[in-house]
Amino acid sequence: MRRGFKSEAERRAEAARAEMGLDRLAKLDPWAYADHLGVIVFDVNDLELNPDHTKQLLVRDPDSWSGMTLDEDGVRLIVLNNAHSRRRQCSTLMHELSHLVLDHVPASVNVSPSGLTLLSDYSDEQEEEADWLGGALLLPQTALIHHRGMGWSVQALADHFGVSVDLCTWRCRVTGVEKRLAFRARA
Ligand SMILES: [Zn+2]
Repeated sequence: MRRGFKSEAERRAEAARAEMGLDRLAKLDPWAYADHLGVIVFDVNDLELNPDHTKQLLVRDPDSWSGMTLDEDGVRLIVLNNAHSRRRQCSTLMHELSHLVLDHVPASVNVSPSGLTLLSDYSDEQEEEADWLGGALLLPQTALIHHRGMGWSVQALADHFGVSVDLCTWRCRVTGVEKRLAFRARA
């Protein structure tokens, strides 16, 4: 990951809240954030695919994909796999929005016969950045320090921010929040 990106992600998480009139410790709902960015969010049922294709995506093969971003004449559309839990969709959506916010350009694009462009095939570095920024937008370091410092459990944090416990555990570890708390407890 390029130097300074982690601090940049925290700044972006704070700026996104400010733009939306939210407190910097507040929960940022990815659906509301998408709306703010002018991005349309669909689930598979909104696509009006033929029932066989819908069944393939949601029933037979639900783990093969979690979300995709499409472009139609400059209008961005994110499709989420609604067979996944709301909390998983939450992090998928923030990941996809992060690619857009960071102006990532895919290595190649696929255009469907109806003229829809599928934005995928990002580089590993871009995937890493989108994971990192997505996590920071959902769980900014400041909010983790504040709430964990007040004695909230990781589970309580995950419930409050509407994300998975796994994501919350990962963020507390990689932002150094757990280390800081352990140090404080010893001091
Ligand atoms: Zn991605």
